[in-house]
This record gives sequence, C-alpha cells and structure tokens, in this order.
Amino acid sequence: VLEQVMRMMSLVAQEKGVDLTYEAAEGCAVRSTRDELYQVIYNLTDNALKYSAGAAVQVSLRKCGGQVVLTVADRGPGIPEEDLPRIFERFYRVDKARSRAAGGTGLGLSIVSDTVRRQGGTVEAANRPGGGAVFTVRWSAEEGEA
Ligand code: ATP
Ligand code: MG
Repeated sequence: VLEQVMRMMSLVAQEKGVDLTYEAAEGCAVRSTRDELYQVIYNLTDNALKYSAGAAVQVSLRKCGGQVVLTVADRGPGIPEEDLPRIFERFYRVDKARSRAAGGTGLGLSIVSDTVRRQGGTVEAANRPGGGAVFTVRWSAEEGEA
C-alpha cells in the first residue's frame, strides 16, 4: 500500500518540485484494511507535500520492537507549539487564511487519528530539530501478509 500511495504522490511531488523519498522495511504487517492504510498514508503525505513549500519530504516504514512505525517528515514551516495539541481536531487549521489558500477542509488529520486509534495504534505530531514537521504512526506488528 505504501508503494501504491508513493507512486501516486510522486506525480504530485514532481509537479510541486518536491523531492519525495521513501523507504520500507520488509515484513511490516499491520491489522488494517488496504483502504484505511491508504487513507492514513495518503493524508499525511498530502499534508507534507502541501505544507513543505518545496522542501524534501521523507516517508519511512519500519519495524521497531513489536511495532510497525510510519513516519512522514517534511522541512516546511512546522507547526506552532501551541497548535500541536489541537491539530488532530476536526476542522482545525493552524493558519486559517493560508490554509484555505492551500485548499482542503481541515479533516485529513482527524480522519487519520480516528482510523489509527480504532486500529489500536497511535499517531503523534512533532516539530523536527532543524525545522519541519514529523508525523509518527505506531501499530502493533502482526504476523502475516504485509
Ligand atoms: P484536508 O486534509 O482536509 O485537505 P487540511 O490539510 O487543512 O485539509 P488536516 O490535514 O487535518 O487539514 O491538517 C490540519 C492543519 O494542520 C492544516 O490546515 C495545517 O495548518 C496543519 N498541518 C498539517 N500537516 C502539516 C505539516 N506537515 N506542516 C505544517 N502544518 C501542517
Ligand atoms: Mg490534510
């Protein structure tokens, strides 16, 4: 599913002149439908490309302990610390004017959060040292088909 989203988003990235790279470890299986997984990866990558202002975006999927960890990292403006706790709320957007110009409804992250939580996983947002935002999703690792 990750590769499917990346193939699609690489076209968007090309258009925006954003360097989108990804890496995926073997055997990362989580308990999810393909559609839900697609939604989660799509929404986070869509945001990273939308708010990264042309800087590089990196997506990584790896196994860590008993968990599968997805990170989507950009080098955009990041998220003001005071907004971080509210970013997953429905319709919440940091800069109303700028965000509206960038398009969208403010629903993407609430969908990601609802989906991941229903799957028993967690999602968190943080700012990166050196600038930009990083979103981290953790699921418990499953045996079976990735
Ligand atoms: P939609 O996803 O419905 O198209 P949206 O992208 O504005 O609209 P969310 O995905 O829920 O909505 O994101 C909420 C807000 O969080 C965004 O409007 C933006 O202000 C902020 N945000 C999300 N991702 C990033 C990011 N990678 N860098 C900086 N700000 C971000
Ligand atoms: Mg969004």
